[in-house]
Amino acid sequence: MCLWGPRSAPPICGGRAGPTGEVCQMKTFACGAVVPGCTAEFAAETEEGLFEQIARHAREEHGLDEVPEELIRQVRANIR
Ligand SMILES: [Zn+2]
Repeated sequence: MCLWGPRSAPPICGGRAGPTGEVCQMKTFACGAVVPGCTAEFAAETEEGLFEQIARHAREEHGLDEVPEELIRQVRANIR
C-alpha cells in the first residue's frame, strides 16, 4: 500500500502520479548511485521496505548474500 500524499505536497519522488493522480511520497533509491552502471530503481513507503528490495536485488543481481555495513551507509545516504 502506498501513502499517497495530499495534492499540495511537493513531488519528492520525481513527481510520479499515483492511481488517484496524486503525487507519491515514497522513498526511492537508484542502485546506480552506489553500483556504477546498474539501472535498477526501488521505491517503498518506508526505509525498511526499501532495504528489503535492495537486499534481494543485491543478492540476485550482484551476488551479495549480505549487504555490507558500508553499502548500507551508502544506500542510506542516497535515498531520496
Ligand atoms: Zn544493482
